[in-house]
This record gives sequence, C-alpha cells and structure tokens, in this order.
Amino acid sequence: TPRPRPLTDLGPEELTAFRQEQQTAYDALRGRGLSLDLTRGKPSSAQLDLSERLLSLPDGTRDAHGVDVRNYGGLEGIRELREMFADLLGVEPAQLVAGGSSSLVMMREVLTDLWLKGAVDGVRPWSEEEKVTFICPVPGYDRHFTLLSWFGIDTVTVPMDEHGPDVEAVAALAAADPSIKGMWVVPTYANPTGSVVTQEVAARLATMETAAPDFKIFWDNAYALHHLTEDEAKTADVLSLAAAAGHPHRPIMFASTSKITFAGAGVAFLGGSVENVAWYVGHLGKGSIGPDKVNQLRHAQFFGSPEGVRDHMRQHRAIIAPKFAAVDEVLTSRLEGLGVATWTRPSGGYFVSLDVLDGTAGRVVELAREAGVALTPAGASFPGGHDPDDRNIRLAPTFPELPEVREAMDAVATCVALAAAEKLSH
Ligand code: PLP
Repeated sequence: TPRPRPLTDLGPEELTAFRQEQQTAYDALRGRGLSLDLTRGKPSSAQLDLSERLLSLPDGTRDAHGVDVRNYGGLEGIRELREMFADLLGVEPAQLVAGGSSSLVMMREVLTDLWLKGAVDGVRPWSEEEKVTFICPVPGYDRHFTLLSWFGIDTVTVPMDEHGPDVEAVAALAAADPSIKGMWVVPTYANPTGSVVTQEVAARLATMETAAPDFKIFWDNAYALHHLTEDEAKTADVLSLAAAAGHPHRPIMFASTSKITFAGAGVAFLGGSVENVAWYVGHLGKGSIGPDKVNQLRHAQFFGSPEGVRDHMRQHRAIIAPKFAAVDEVLTSRLEGLGVATWTRPSGGYFVSLDVLDGTAGRVVELAREAGVALTPAGASFPGGHDPDDRNIRLAPTFPELPEVREAMDAVATCVALAAAEKLSH
C-alpha cells in the first residue's frame, strides 16, 4: 500500500475519493450492528477476579494491633493499612487517613469543609469569599469539574503537557488573583493524558507564591500504582516539597484502591500535613464514628505488604497493557500520516487521549454512536463540557475484551477519517 499522505495535501478530487472510501467503510460499519462501549475507565471482570480472595477475608476480627475491626472507632483507619499505603504513596503514616471506598467522596468532603469552615491556613470559610476560582489543567477529569460547578466555584484552564500542567501559567494565575484558591492535579498518569508530573513541575507548584494564603493543591493520585510498562514512574513528593517551601498545608493528596481491588468496595486514602489530617478527621467525626475497618483489614491481609500491592498491579498490567497496545496499533495503522489525529501512548493509568482535527470531535462521537460505539462525549474533559477546539476525545480501553477494543478502535478510526474528510471538503 502507498504511504498515506496528509489529507490537507490532497487535491479536491483525491479528497472526494478519500471521503467516498471512508463513507463506504462507515456504511459497512453501521450495517454490522455493533454495540461497544469505550466510555468509562472501569476494570474488566478479569481484573476484578484478581481480587476474588478478598471475599473470603478477613481471617479473624482483630487487626495487627489487637483492635476489633467489627466495632465503632478508629476514624483515621487501621494502622497496618495506613502504614502499607503510606509506604506506597511516599508519606508518613501519621499523614495518611484510610477511609471509605471512594476518594471522590473525600474530595467532596474536603471542599465542603473548606467551604463551611475554612482551611487550617485560611482566614475565613470559602463560602464567605466573594468568588472562589480553581485552576483546571485540561484535558482533565470530568468529575473534578462537575464537583466544582456544583459548589459554584469558577474555573480557569491551563494546558496539560507531558510533564503535567503548564506550571508557568499556573504560577502567573495563582500569584495575581486572590480568588484563585486551588487547583487539580492528577500527578501520575493523568486522566486522560497519561502525563506524569515531573520533579521540577511539582517543586514549582509547591514553592510558587500564591495571592491566596490558603491555596490548595488537590493532588489526586488515583493512578499512582497503575503502571503499564516496566518503567514504573515514581510520583514527586509534593508534601515534602511544600513543607520545605513553607507551605506545608498546600497539598492534599487523594488515592484509592478502586482500580486495584474492587471499584465499588475498595479503600480510599487522604494524605496531607498532620494539621490537615487532624482538620479533616475532626470534620469527618461530625458525621461518622469510624470507617469500614472490616474492609480495611481484609485489604491489609489480602496484600500483606507494599510489595504485595506492587505484585498485584503487575497482574493488572498483564491484562490491560495489551488493550492499550491494541489502541495504538489500530490508530497507527489506520490514521498515521493522514495529519488528522494525534494520540497519547501512556505508560500508566486508564486512558488514551485522542486529539482529532479541530472542530470534528463532536462529529466523531456522533458518527461512532450511530455505528454502535459509545465514546465519552466530546468536551467531557473540559469544564462545562466545552472543548473550545472541539478536538479532544477520551478513550477508555480497560473494560471491553481485547477483540472488542480492536473492533471499537477500527470503527473510531473510520469515524475520525470520515469526519476529517467531511470537514476538509467544506
Ligand atoms: N480521580 C480520578 C483522576 C479518576 O480518574 C477517578 C475515577 O475514574 C477517581 C478519582 C475516582 O476515584 P474513587 O473511585 O476513589 O472515588
């Protein structure tokens, strides 16, 4: 086959011929009555099966320190699990809380506490501010943006690149405007770009001057341990960097085992300065007498050690890395050289970020839907669901079986090429 040429280099007749080819392929696709779903980053059932043994644990009812896990108490979570994940997340056990099953709930709780009571380093509750704004690296995680919008918090976007958020843009915004109270960062294997925040970027975020004294970095390390290659990225130690810079209360860290054990029955973690932890637990205590320590104990027993968690993640990798390879393989064979799409090749996390020809992302998602392939809505990775360039599509290949991932990606490639040909022939 001849080498593909960029669509923009084609003459009008060549472009018409290309468009016709893609239309024919698309019509054939529609005729196949596909029903495929690449929308949400969920573990597949084979991944969930890796943690099956959890269902027959815990063995006994006391944790390593003799606490009866069936009873009330221990708001900060059982010590052995906090020690295990403190090691994995690079913090001190005293800086880590083990809670319920959802880290997103913890993020909402922290925002609620900031809103109603104010930060440990704040002067008043955020609800008493005239305006509260968050810096949102884009493309980013839709639920972060929905949460802000639910609070009525304004958003200002900065671009995400392979080293994390555009840190000079962040520093300029944070220094200039006291209404800017915080930002989101997914430091390791970002959703959806797969970027890993470098030591330099983390250091700048930790040390930068901010107009708001109580600026908060929501350091959402949801994919800290979710490597797709042997090269296991280590997350920058933002808590130490911030403490050394005199801003110990700036970062609040989140993580969970949602994509390590069971997405609906894992354990979530919150990390921060000892003062932030006491602040969080103090507010938590107004609504809870203690977490599900039975679940925490079975997690501790299931893993046994930090190395047990790392081993377990390698088993996940064996299941999902081929799916990510398939996404890249199909996109490369179908779209490389056409100049209408670029995509990430993540070394961890749950997503591939696909950028199509400007102004066609919505059309690609629509075409795919009509052909029976569900994609995350175009714009979902931007606040308000609005991608100003109508360019980004988030692909989530973990849940479907490998042959379905291939089939879905082939369909997506047809939709990308057809939408680009349509756009260019106007
Ligand atoms: N944070 C990020 C960046 C995510 O991608 C997700 C899930 O997709 C979550 C948090 C949700 O975490 P949890 O299941 O602990 O609530």
